[in-house]
Amino acid sequence: MPRTPACGLFSRTPSRTAWSAGGNAYAWTAAEQLASLADQVQEWAVEALWSEGAPAVRPHCPAHPDMHPPAATIVVSSAVWVCPKSGATVARIGELEHC
Ligand SMILES: [Zn+2]
Repeated sequence: MPRTPACGLFSRTPSRTAWSAGGNAYAWTAAEQLASLADQVQEWAVEALWSEGAPAVRPHCPAHPDMHPPAATIVVSSAVWVCPKSGATVARIGELEHC
């Protein structure tokens, strides 16, 4: 797992500030943290399903079931799932109807 550089721990808002690869201070928004978390949870779910021999597509892209999962990203300051093929917003993270 990637580790947050220790310098971030001593800032006034340690949980919301990290250093980007370029070395610039970067404030994470709540939406970005949610998208990042959803992305990690998706990876864990896929790995767990794959290890059990189950189809490892979770959650399903509503437009393309069994083809690919939607990707967690940020659109207009909201954490959402988007179809990686069409780029269409599928749902806000946490509001997918079928997964
Ligand atoms: Zn799709």
